[in-house]
Amino acid sequence: QCAVACPVGAITQVEDYQKVKEAINDPEKIVIFNTAPAVRVALGEEFGYEVGSYVEDKMVAALRKLGGEYVFDVTFGADMTIMEEANELVDRIINKSENLPQFTSCCPSWVKYVETFYPEFIPNLSTTKSPIGIQGAAIKTYFAKEANIDPAKIVNVTITPCTSKKYEISRPEMNSSSKYNNIEGLRDNDYILTTKELAKWIREEDIDFEALEGSNFDDLMGQGSGAGIIFGNSGGVMEAAVRTAYHVLTGERPTKELLDFKPVRGLEGVKEATLQIEDKVIKVAAVQTTNNAEALMEKIKSGEVDYQFVEVMTCKGGCIGGAGQPKQPKKKVTNEIRLKRIEGLYNKDAHINVKCSYENPEVIKAYDEFFEKPLSHVSHELLHTEFDSKYYMLGRGDVKVDNAKSEEK
Ligand code: SF4
Repeated sequence: QCAVACPVGAITQVEDYQKVKEAINDPEKIVIFNTAPAVRVALGEEFGYEVGSYVEDKMVAALRKLGGEYVFDVTFGADMTIMEEANELVDRIINKSENLPQFTSCCPSWVKYVETFYPEFIPNLSTTKSPIGIQGAAIKTYFAKEANIDPAKIVNVTITPCTSKKYEISRPEMNSSSKYNNIEGLRDNDYILTTKELAKWIREEDIDFEALEGSNFDDLMGQGSGAGIIFGNSGGVMEAAVRTAYHVLTGERPTKELLDFKPVRGLEGVKEATLQIEDKVIKVAAVQTTNNAEALMEKIKSGEVDYQFVEVMTCKGGCIGGAGQPKQPKKKVTNEIRLKRIEGLYNKDAHINVKCSYENPEVIKAYDEFFEKPLSHVSHELLHTEFDSKYYMLGRGDVKVDNAKSEEK
């Protein structure tokens, strides 16, 4: 562990890269790296690049040099999240009209906040796992089967902008590959490293980041759509889901307006939009920071507002502003820095042909060969999860927690 920021050392950030180095040196282990979308527009800052520079190819090359046998892209997992979450939304709106608004659940800090302070809204959380949750389970099932690798040998390491992801992968239910493979103790994800940890490790190994010859992600889980890329920005999950939900509802490619869904972009605390898709009117909101989320939750509870779909990311700007990202100058992330990182991801989306999750050839292949279709039995088994306040009973006094139910477990 290493003490960061806190002058008395009471708050520490857990560093895991030494354990990953041990796994790399173990001939029995196969280390697989994955990188979340927001890392590639911030890692360069640690090596003198301009803020917001898109350093994906150098980042992949660095991970290969550090000893990763495979390097995959979490934008694949983000696209899979959208396939499941958009279909879940359409199912809730059309077939059931229940548990609305649907809340995104890819931010573990937000999930824990709901479990702790608003457990009555747990059924509103999308049951779809976060991109890293899906990526981890898919690597130890789908990829292991395709590559004919014993899943017990795989050490799954994901680089994220987020310190909360270290907690998310330790949640007891994040072990669906264990049940699927019938291997006791198998975890879907083994280690999370932050962007800052990766930069520190690269420096320690004396790797000249700028001089690296760029490299591409490996096939099978190495391709993401523009929708997967913009997951790193506040409003990005919402925009990505709307693109695919439109396709599910109409069978058509989203309109130009939806492929450049400006109302949910930017640093405003609560961004709202109303969509008309055929005869459906869908009201959405994208929220950033917990203060704004709390105010919105109270309005939803009182009936003052009425949405069908709400995205919440607890970091300002979304994951590009995560606690594991570089902080500069003077240990700060300013709005100017956030906006440049945000622009880096939207620029990539603007210049990519595959803009929607359902268009990603690797996603199509994954469903054809393994997951069957969104919300299938195997998808539910591996790509969905559950939430419960019983593990997290730290809520305010006014929240009723079912102790009897929790003691049964
Ligand atoms: Fe992590 Fe922040 Fe992104 Fe939430 S918004 S997943 S806490 S980096």
